Amino acid sequence: MTLVEHIRAESARLAALCTACGACVTACPMTPYAAGVEAAPPAAVAAGMRDLLLDGPATPEALAWIAACTRSGVCSAACPEQLDAAFMLRLATWRAKGALGEAPRIPVKEDTQYSPKVKAFARLTLTEEEQARWL
Ligand code: SF4
Repeated sequence: MTLVEHIRAESARLAALCTACGACVTACPMTPYAAGVEAAPPAAVAAGMRDLLLDGPATPEALAWIAACTRSGVCSAACPEQLDAAFMLRLATWRAKGALGEAPRIPVKEDTQYSPKVKAFARLTLTEEEQARWL
């Protein structure tokens, strides 16, 4: 299974279990920092997130909530269905950033030092011959 297939499969699995009750949104400490989320019904924001996991367009409020996620994990503890809501948010974040090949729907931060960091780490673990071939 490829990573894209895994993201799709996990998205569909969790979305099918989610009732879009909104408890995760209500518990989230980041809603004051996500445009329009506090004014929207929590269930509607959750439904927008679930819609995104099912290849839908989501809603502006759901996208704002997804973009504001800081991985606190408070949402998972609040879920009455005992779903890993934080993982659902991670999946939604990847998808909203275009992980499946679509145009990004939320801002994507570029790490200009990503490649140098990978090379620095690789130098710690690769032989000199491997470094000569791959770096
Ligand atoms: S609390 Fe759980 S069931 Fe309710 S909307 Fe969030 S993830 Fe879905």
